[in-house]
Order: sequence, then C-alpha cells, then structure tokens
Amino acid sequence: MKFPQQLLLRLTALLEDPPPCNPATPPAKPVRSCKPRLHGIDAPLTAQARELVQELRGLQDLAQKVRVVWNSRLQTTAGTASARTWEVEINPRLKDHGPAVIQRILRHELAHLVSVHRAGRRRITAHGPEWRQACTDLGIPGEPRCHSLPLKGRQVRAKFAYRCQHCGRLLKRVRPLGRRSACFDCCQKHNHGRYDDRYRYLRIPLDVLEEGRIQQAP
Ligand SMILES: [Zn+2]
Ligand SMILES: [Zn+2]
Repeated sequence: MKFPQQLLLRLTALLEDPPPCNPATPPAKPVRSCKPRLHGIDAPLTAQARELVQELRGLQDLAQKVRVVWNSRLQTTAGTASARTWEVEINPRLKDHGPAVIQRILRHELAHLVSVHRAGRRRITAHGPEWRQACTDLGIPGEPRCHSLPLKGRQVRAKFAYRCQHCGRLLKRVRPLGRRSACFDCCQKHNHGRYDDRYRYLRIPLDVLEEGRIQQAP
C-alpha cells in the first residue's frame, strides 16, 4: 500500500496555525485550571483495533484492553498512543481527510502499543526495530516515524497569505480563509474569543510575506 504522503503533508500544513476566529464559531470557553479531557471512544475503531491485535500472536491481553479515542486537544499531532492506558488517541481533525488517513494513523499508533506490549519490561525506543516490526505485522511496512512534522509545512506551498490588521500576525494558508475570519489571538485577548471585524485577517500578497518584508505592526 502506498503511503498517502501528500495528504499527510497537506494535513500538517493545515494544522500548523490556530484556527481563525469566525462569527459562526462559538467563543472559546475561558481557560480553567482543570479542563475536562475532550474524549470520545470510537466503538467501531476500537473493535477494529482489537481485531487487528487479535490476529497477531500472543497479544490477547492487549486485544482486550486497547481502545481508540478521539482527542480534540491534540493540536499538530495526528495521533498518539499511551501504554499506561492502552489507548490510541486520534486527532478529530483527521476526519476531514478521509478514512485512509485515519486507518494509517490508527495502525501507526497501534504499532506503538504492540511493540511496547511485546517488549514487556524491556525498554525500547519509540520508533525502533520493535515498532517497525509491529508496523509490518499490522500491514504498514516502511511506515515513517512521523506524521506530524512540527509546524512550518515546508513541503507544502501555501497559496494564500494574510495579516491580522490589529496585531500584525502573519498567516499562510494552503486554502483560502472564509470571508469573515479573524485573528484567534486577538479575539481571545480583546473580545472574549468572539469574532470582531477589527481583528479580521486581510489578504496580502504571498511573495511579500515570503520575502519577509512585512513589518510586524506594534
Ligand atoms: Zn509514532
Ligand atoms: Zn491579531
């Protein structure tokens, strides 16, 4: 199976900036000291993960406890796995990118749990030979170690550039912003997270942004 590299790189680019603030989006809740984890178990994916593990030898124990959950607190990470809870966490933003990407991430993360479980008390490196073997066993040989390159989507060319008219924050996008999209930071800071036209992003020429000739407004 060919790895949908382009799709994931594109995904990475889309995840690199905080979402702009739109009138349609409800204002973000004020930060409290103890935020609930926005978690939801996905029953079909959990069932599928258990089946995948069941097909491997000697992992009945893991097959019974593994769970797949959506975690909306993941930002630039496509997925993670925890050997403490035996959970695979998947970024809900992946839903926009189709089932093939979700399947890939599911197996990548599951391979972490499989390799850790097999290793028992022995310490292994996250993307070492044990993990690579688990990837092969789960049908994704040659899996790359990283799906969420942190920021700066170098491989993807942004086609649109914007600047916040208030704080001067620059934004590059692969896809255009909606008509009324405002700077997330400014809406948070000055307007309780609600949209305000004063913080709307203005489109600017991409080449200007890339050459770094734009002065950050005070
Ligand atoms: Zn990994
Ligand atoms: Zn701003």
